[in-house]
Amino acid sequence: MIRKFLKRVMGKPAKTKPVDNARVIPFSVHGVDRDQISYGAQKVTDGLQEAGYEAYVVGGAVRDLLLGRKPKDFDVATSATPEEVRRVFRRSRIIGRRFQLVHVMFGEEVVEVSTFRSLIEAGDAQTDEHGRLLRDNQFGDQEQDAARRDFTANALFYDPYTQEIYDYHGGYADTRKHLLRMIGDPEVRYREDPVRMLRAVRLSAKLGITLDAATAAPIARMKELLDNVPKARLLDEVLKMLLSGHSVECIQQLHRMNLHHGLLPLLDVIMEQPMGEKFIMLALRNTDERISQDKPVSPAFLFAALLWHEVLAAWNLRLQQGERPVGAMHAAMDEVLAKQRAQLAIPHRVDAVMKEIWLMQQRLEQRSGQRPYRLLEQPRFRAGYDFLLLRCASGEVDDQLGLWWDEFQDASDERRAEMLQPEQAGDKKRRRRKPRKKPDIAMQGDVGAQFIAPESEQETQPESKIQSELPIE
Ligand code: ATP
Ligand code: MG
Repeated sequence: MIRKFLKRVMGKPAKTKPVDNARVIPFSVHGVDRDQISYGAQKVTDGLQEAGYEAYVVGGAVRDLLLGRKPKDFDVATSATPEEVRRVFRRSRIIGRRFQLVHVMFGEEVVEVSTFRSLIEAGDAQTDEHGRLLRDNQFGDQEQDAARRDFTANALFYDPYTQEIYDYHGGYADTRKHLLRMIGDPEVRYREDPVRMLRAVRLSAKLGITLDAATAAPIARMKELLDNVPKARLLDEVLKMLLSGHSVECIQQLHRMNLHHGLLPLLDVIMEQPMGEKFIMLALRNTDERISQDKPVSPAFLFAALLWHEVLAAWNLRLQQGERPVGAMHAAMDEVLAKQRAQLAIPHRVDAVMKEIWLMQQRLEQRSGQRPYRLLEQPRFRAGYDFLLLRCASGEVDDQLGLWWDEFQDASDERRAEMLQPEQAGDKKRRRRKPRKKPDIAMQGDVGAQFIAPESEQETQPESKIQSELPIE
């Protein structure tokens, strides 16, 4: 406390950089108070400045504070190299190989610290044949670091000590005008990194701000460049959209910009399946709501929802070809996941959870004997049940099923016993003797009703078998 007071009285630590080209915006103009910066980010900028380095809060956090929003996290940019940052903070670690960053830990909070980078011109040896930057890890100064950032609103540097903002590209005025504008020539910048097209969509949708016309214009003709981006990075960006808390707006914006088409099969699925659209929109809205209430959301649940109607379509096709329901379901799931993986690198671990949620849908329809009790004990019952509620809300299955499970979960033993549907054991024997009937071919509009495997098949594929194939996380 005394140290902090002395520091304020004695004046700010020495700086080594010129700020000639930056507009310095004082607190009296922008009004962002030091107290709005997280504890960890303040500690990091204070610590680095005391050690003689420049250090600022930068990027999304400054932008969000100017827009009156709560920042997701706080990033710091500094003149110190990663090793120098490590030396100042004991609880920190260097991450990344080519592009090194330092994570500094303060309890739960992790502050990401990056060293000022310099802008590498497109056409350099460090770009691929499309102009995409392959390396972006040369250290530079604050001005160069500002120029390599994407949007003017993302290139503002806030000094928590002086409470001043340094602005090299007019980002302050743009932010005040609620405008998202690319720094430099948008076409060149998209060529350097096509993911910026998706960032433009995500940030404008999430923040409810306008995409500058010159920034938006080249996107329609440059979207093919996204094919050239590593799949893991695309997945990252798609996940950021879906988990932004504004996934519905993001998807609508992608649609408006015609960016969804042929971009990612997953997004094609979202937009172009009339039958699944209602279900998917409900799932996205539900996710946005959970995020706004600070509830956890699972990417596996979301991907399971996005691909559900693809799985159903593949399953129906296999039924039409005479395959047996449970086997057809396993094959349909694998087929859809393989197709999806070819474009977007959904991790195998996530696949396993998605399959569990999908397979549980079948079991949720079985309400007799011991089955509902066993299902309740499944670790992922809640996810399967939430998924069922979405199917009910979209009209795919009868609301009664959701209501039944809602009551069954909390009912007394007596009530549960009353609720059970009559065991169709008598049928089993009869069916066994009957020649196997080809399963009904489910029409696309009526899949839910056809989703229960016939008893005869359940016997050959007992539940324990289905479960044993599912790794539990
Ligand atoms: P969010 O609120 O989603 O975190 P953000 O703008 O902070 O938004 P990050 O991905 O956290 O997004 O990136 C932090 C900063 O790094 C950005 O504000 C921007 O200055 C810079 N940046 C990120 N991605 C790029 C990119 N593809 N090209 C140029 N600069 C980028
Ligand atoms: Mg950020």
